[in-house]
Amino acid sequence: MTSEHKGTALVTGASSGIGAIYADRLAKQGYDLILVARNAGKLRSLANAISDKTGRSVEVLPADLGKSADLKQVEKMLRTDASITMLVNNAGIGAVAPLLASDIDAMQSMIDVNVTAPMRLAYAAAPGFVARGKGTIINIASIVAISPETLNGVYGGSKAFVLAFSQSLHHELADKGVRVQAVLPGATATDFWELSGRPVEHLPAEIVMSADAMVDAALAGLRQGELVTIPSLPDIADWQAFEAARNALRPNLSLGRPARRYAA
Ligand code: NAP
Repeated sequence: MTSEHKGTALVTGASSGIGAIYADRLAKQGYDLILVARNAGKLRSLANAISDKTGRSVEVLPADLGKSADLKQVEKMLRTDASITMLVNNAGIGAVAPLLASDIDAMQSMIDVNVTAPMRLAYAAAPGFVARGKGTIINIASIVAISPETLNGVYGGSKAFVLAFSQSLHHELADKGVRVQAVLPGATATDFWELSGRPVEHLPAEIVMSADAMVDAALAGLRQGELVTIPSLPDIADWQAFEAARNALRPNLSLGRPARRYAA
């Protein structure tokens, strides 16, 4: 616990799981909080518990990020409250069903919450962060961003967006004082799995991390200055090799003529 004041962190999906742990840890680090999710009752009891424990100011902003009017309220908060120094884009929903067993409207709702909401919230937060020369955007992606065969493909695609968007935000904003981090958790023990259609107890225990351990590792990655944090990955050299291979492609990704193998 610290008495240092670090401004306000707005955390989406703070009513449970990973977001609730971020709220706890960030308050202990010295942030005031604005907690966003649909379940107002859960947000309020978490807010009371955290402010009793840490003495920090904790506001709740109940909102359904899949609904445009609610999302705009959160955007407005990010645009107008200059005390906000951190945005944690954590709210998200998953799915395990393959394409042929999935409901297209549920897939669309997932994109609304997992893609549209974090994109619009980053656009709302970034101009103020740049104007004030400081701010942090943490985007919770998933390991499926780089392993889209693992769960539902729309879920994987939504998290690939979050990763690519974070890399682009970093590229554009790092020299303007804005820190960006994409977190790629593996399976984490939260309600996510039950809600996605596969209770976490059905997964092999050795691949499941506790939400506390996951968030503590992600915050350690943030302190270490990482753009991408994969809490499970034992050897960072493996990620660095993956990135090096991607970057090695870049000079040849757009050329004026097709590769020789496509010659008629
Ligand atoms: P969780 O316990 O189900 O929490 C999801 C949070 O998002 C809840 O607070 C929920 O609150 C909120 N949320 C869902 N739909 C929302 C909406 N329409 N509007 C506003 N808030 C909404 O799951 P979690 O594991 O902590 O998930 C957090 C993030 O981690 C997600 O982005 C997920 O994709 C990612 N992730 C999870 C895992 C995992 O294995 N658990 C792995 C990789 C990545 P309300 O229901 O109150 O709205």
